[in-house]
Amino acid sequence: MAEEEIVKQIVKEVLNKINRENKIGEIEDIAVNNKERILYCNYSNRHCHISREHLDILYGEGYQLTKLKDLIQPGEFASNELLTIVGPTGAVLPIRILGPVRSKTQVEISRTDSFAIKIKGVPVRQSGNTAGTPGCVLVGPNGAATLKEGVVVAMRHVHFTPDDARYFDIRDKEMLKVRLESPARTTIFEKVVARVKPSYALEMHIDVDEANAAGVGQNTPAEIIKD
Ligand SMILES: [Zn+2]
Repeated sequence: MAEEEIVKQIVKEVLNKINRENKIGEIEDIAVNNKERILYCNYSNRHCHISREHLDILYGEGYQLTKLKDLIQPGEFASNELLTIVGPTGAVLPIRILGPVRSKTQVEISRTDSFAIKIKGVPVRQSGNTAGTPGCVLVGPNGAATLKEGVVVAMRHVHFTPDDARYFDIRDKEMLKVRLESPARTTIFEKVVARVKPSYALEMHIDVDEANAAGVGQNTPAEIIKD
Protein backbone atom coordinates (compact mmCIF):
# COMPACT_ATOMS: atom_id res chain seq x y z
CA MET A 1 0.00 0.00 0.00
CA ALA A 2 1.30 3.46 -0.87
CA GLU A 3 2.15 5.68 2.08
CA GLU A 4 -0.71 8.02 1.26
CA GLU A 5 -3.15 5.10 1.29
CA ILE A 6 -1.82 3.95 4.65
CA VAL A 7 -2.29 7.44 6.10
CA LYS A 8 -5.84 7.58 4.71
CA GLN A 9 -6.59 4.19 6.23
CA ILE A 10 -5.21 5.22 9.61
CA VAL A 11 -7.21 8.49 9.57
CA LYS A 12 -10.36 6.56 8.72
CA GLU A 13 -9.82 4.10 11.55
CA VAL A 14 -9.07 6.85 14.04
CA LEU A 15 -12.19 8.78 13.00
CA ASN A 16 -14.31 5.64 13.29
CA LYS A 17 -12.87 4.99 16.72
CA ILE A 18 -13.58 8.58 17.80
CA ASN A 19 -17.15 8.29 16.52
CA ARG A 20 -17.72 5.01 18.32
CA GLU A 21 -16.29 6.37 21.55
CA ASN A 22 -18.25 9.57 21.28
CA LYS A 23 -21.49 7.68 20.96
CA ILE A 24 -20.71 5.68 24.05
CA GLY A 25 -19.33 8.86 25.61
CA GLU A 26 -22.57 10.74 25.05
CA ILE A 27 -24.59 8.07 26.79
CA GLU A 28 -22.16 8.05 29.69
CA ASP A 29 -22.19 11.84 29.88
CA ILE A 30 -25.96 11.91 30.27
CA ALA A 31 -25.77 9.29 33.00
CA VAL A 32 -23.02 11.23 34.76
CA ASN A 33 -24.96 14.49 34.45
CA ASN A 34 -27.99 12.89 36.02
CA LYS A 35 -25.92 11.82 38.99
CA GLU A 36 -23.60 14.81 39.16
CA ARG A 37 -25.86 17.64 38.16
CA ILE A 38 -23.97 20.84 37.57
CA LEU A 39 -25.80 24.05 38.32
CA TYR A 40 -24.93 26.91 35.98
CA CYS A 41 -25.68 30.55 36.63
CA ASN A 42 -26.82 32.85 33.83
CA TYR A 43 -27.61 36.53 34.09
CA SER A 44 -30.60 38.21 32.50
CA ASN A 45 -30.53 41.60 30.92
CA ARG A 46 -33.57 43.81 31.38
CA HIS A 47 -36.59 42.21 29.75
CA CYS A 48 -40.35 42.08 29.93
CA HIS A 49 -43.05 39.46 29.76
CA ILE A 50 -46.10 40.68 27.92
CA SER A 51 -49.82 40.00 28.07
CA ARG A 52 -51.88 39.39 24.91
CA GLU A 53 -53.78 42.60 25.59
CA HIS A 54 -50.61 44.71 25.82
CA LEU A 55 -48.98 43.06 22.79
CA ASP A 56 -52.11 43.93 20.77
CA ILE A 57 -51.73 47.58 21.76
CA LEU A 58 -47.95 47.75 21.31
CA TYR A 59 -47.42 45.66 18.17
CA GLY A 60 -50.92 45.38 16.71
CA GLU A 61 -53.95 43.11 17.03
CA GLY A 62 -53.00 39.42 17.02
CA TYR A 63 -49.28 40.11 16.60
CA GLN A 64 -47.09 37.00 17.04
CA LEU A 65 -43.67 37.35 18.69
CA THR A 66 -40.79 36.12 16.53
CA LYS A 67 -38.02 34.02 18.08
CA LEU A 68 -34.49 35.40 18.38
CA LYS A 69 -33.25 32.46 20.43
CA ASP A 70 -34.45 29.76 22.77
CA LEU A 71 -33.67 30.16 26.45
CA ILE A 72 -32.60 27.31 28.71
CA GLN A 73 -35.98 27.24 30.47
CA PRO A 74 -38.13 25.00 28.24
CA GLY A 75 -40.54 26.91 25.98
CA GLU A 76 -39.11 30.32 26.88
CA PHE A 77 -37.49 32.43 24.20
CA ALA A 78 -35.95 35.83 23.60
CA SER A 79 -38.00 37.54 20.88
CA ASN A 80 -36.77 39.95 18.25
CA GLU A 81 -39.32 42.48 19.48
CA LEU A 82 -38.20 45.46 21.49
CA LEU A 83 -40.14 48.07 23.41
CA THR A 84 -39.22 51.35 25.03
CA ILE A 85 -39.80 51.83 28.76
CA VAL A 86 -40.62 55.40 29.68
CA GLY A 87 -40.09 56.53 33.26
CA PRO A 88 -41.99 59.31 35.09
CA THR A 89 -39.57 62.04 33.98
CA GLY A 90 -39.52 60.93 30.35
CA ALA A 91 -36.21 59.02 30.58
CA VAL A 92 -36.26 55.97 28.32
CA LEU A 93 -34.60 52.56 27.98
CA PRO A 94 -35.00 49.89 25.33
CA ILE A 95 -36.23 46.52 26.58
CA ARG A 96 -36.58 43.10 24.94
CA ILE A 97 -39.78 41.04 25.10
CA LEU A 98 -39.40 37.41 26.19
CA GLY A 99 -41.96 34.93 24.89
CA PRO A 100 -44.33 33.30 25.01
CA VAL A 101 -47.13 35.72 25.88
CA ARG A 102 -48.15 35.55 29.56
CA SER A 103 -51.28 36.34 31.53
CA LYS A 104 -49.73 39.48 33.03
CA THR A 105 -47.17 42.01 31.80
CA GLN A 106 -44.06 42.23 33.98
CA VAL A 107 -41.03 44.45 33.45
CA GLU A 108 -37.79 43.14 34.97
CA ILE A 109 -35.02 45.71 35.25
CA SER A 110 -31.83 46.04 37.28
CA ARG A 111 -31.49 48.47 40.14
CA THR A 112 -29.11 50.49 37.96
CA ASP A 113 -31.83 50.68 35.26
CA SER A 114 -34.34 51.91 37.84
CA PHE A 115 -32.04 54.87 38.60
CA ALA A 116 -31.50 55.53 34.87
CA ILE A 117 -35.22 55.83 34.17
CA LYS A 118 -35.96 57.38 37.57
CA ILE A 119 -38.61 54.93 38.70
CA LYS A 120 -38.48 55.10 42.47
CA GLY A 121 -38.91 52.23 44.88
CA VAL A 122 -38.67 49.30 42.46
CA PRO A 123 -38.73 46.31 44.83
CA VAL A 124 -36.90 43.01 44.57
CA ARG A 125 -39.66 40.52 43.84
CA GLN A 126 -40.17 36.94 42.81
CA SER A 127 -41.52 36.66 39.29
CA GLY A 128 -45.31 36.97 39.23
CA ASN A 129 -45.55 38.85 42.53
CA THR A 130 -46.15 42.36 41.24
CA ALA A 131 -48.84 43.66 43.63
CA GLY A 132 -48.06 47.20 44.71
CA THR A 133 -44.99 47.61 42.46
CA PRO A 134 -44.44 50.77 40.39
CA GLY A 135 -45.75 51.07 36.85
CA CYS A 136 -44.33 52.64 33.71
CA VAL A 137 -45.27 53.39 30.14
CA LEU A 138 -44.29 50.92 27.43
CA VAL A 139 -44.05 52.12 23.86
CA GLY A 140 -44.09 49.88 20.80
CA PRO A 141 -44.36 50.49 17.05
CA ASN A 142 -48.18 50.36 17.20
CA GLY A 143 -48.88 52.35 20.37
CA ALA A 144 -48.27 52.87 24.06
CA ALA A 145 -49.52 51.01 27.13
CA THR A 146 -49.63 52.41 30.64
CA LEU A 147 -48.88 49.86 33.32
CA LYS A 148 -50.27 50.64 36.76
CA GLU A 149 -47.83 48.15 38.26
CA GLY A 150 -45.40 45.43 37.18
CA VAL A 151 -41.92 46.93 37.31
CA VAL A 152 -39.64 44.77 39.48
CA VAL A 153 -36.03 43.88 40.14
CA ALA A 154 -36.09 40.09 39.87
CA MET A 155 -35.15 38.18 42.99
CA ARG A 156 -32.11 35.96 42.36
CA HIS A 157 -33.33 32.41 42.01
CA VAL A 158 -32.58 28.85 40.97
CA HIS A 159 -34.93 26.81 38.77
CA PHE A 160 -35.14 23.13 39.73
CA THR A 161 -37.15 20.21 38.44
CA PRO A 162 -38.56 18.08 41.29
CA ASP A 163 -35.78 15.56 40.51
CA ASP A 164 -33.11 18.26 40.77
CA ALA A 165 -34.65 19.44 44.03
CA ARG A 166 -34.42 15.92 45.46
CA TYR A 167 -30.83 15.61 44.24
CA PHE A 168 -29.80 18.90 45.90
CA ASP A 169 -32.09 18.26 48.88
CA ILE A 170 -33.90 21.59 48.68
CA ARG A 171 -37.57 22.63 48.87
CA ASP A 172 -39.60 25.03 46.75
CA LYS A 173 -39.25 28.63 48.06
CA GLU A 174 -36.27 27.70 50.25
CA MET A 175 -33.70 30.50 50.50
CA LEU A 176 -30.31 29.26 49.36
CA LYS A 177 -26.74 30.38 49.66
CA VAL A 178 -24.86 30.07 46.38
CA ARG A 179 -21.18 30.65 45.64
CA LEU A 180 -20.02 31.95 42.27
CA GLU A 181 -16.32 31.77 41.66
CA SER A 182 -14.67 34.42 39.50
CA PRO A 183 -11.10 35.59 38.96
CA ALA A 184 -11.30 38.69 41.17
CA ARG A 185 -14.74 38.88 42.76
CA THR A 186 -15.81 35.44 43.98
CA THR A 187 -19.14 36.05 45.68
CA ILE A 188 -21.56 34.16 47.89
CA PHE A 189 -25.13 35.19 47.19
CA GLU A 190 -27.64 34.71 50.00
CA LYS A 191 -31.44 34.85 49.73
CA VAL A 192 -31.43 32.98 46.43
CA VAL A 193 -34.94 31.59 46.19
CA ALA A 194 -35.43 28.00 45.05
CA ARG A 195 -38.25 27.49 42.53
CA VAL A 196 -39.33 23.95 41.81
CA LYS A 197 -41.55 22.98 38.87
CA PRO A 198 -41.63 19.99 36.53
CA SER A 199 -41.48 22.36 33.54
CA TYR A 200 -38.19 23.98 34.64
CA ALA A 201 -34.59 23.16 33.75
CA LEU A 202 -31.80 23.37 36.34
CA GLU A 203 -30.42 26.92 36.14
CA MET A 204 -29.62 29.89 38.36
CA HIS A 205 -30.70 33.39 37.32
CA ILE A 206 -29.25 36.69 38.47
CA ASP A 207 -29.40 40.13 36.87
CA VAL A 208 -26.70 42.22 35.23
CA ASP A 209 -25.91 44.20 38.40
CA GLU A 210 -25.36 40.99 40.34
CA ALA A 211 -23.27 39.41 37.58
CA ASN A 212 -21.08 42.52 37.40
CA ALA A 213 -20.73 42.66 41.18
CA ALA A 214 -19.55 39.04 41.17
CA GLY A 215 -17.44 39.47 38.04
CA VAL A 216 -19.06 36.55 36.25
CA GLY A 217 -20.20 35.95 32.68
CA GLN A 218 -22.77 33.52 31.37
CA ASN A 219 -22.68 29.82 32.26
CA THR A 220 -20.81 30.17 35.50
CA PRO A 221 -20.76 27.00 37.61
CA ALA A 222 -22.58 27.69 40.87
CA GLU A 223 -22.15 25.92 44.18
CA ILE A 224 -25.03 25.63 46.63
CA ILE A 225 -23.63 26.01 50.12
CA LYS A 226 -25.31 24.08 52.91
CA ASP A 227 -24.60 25.31 56.43
ZN1 LIG B 1 -35.46 32.48 36.03
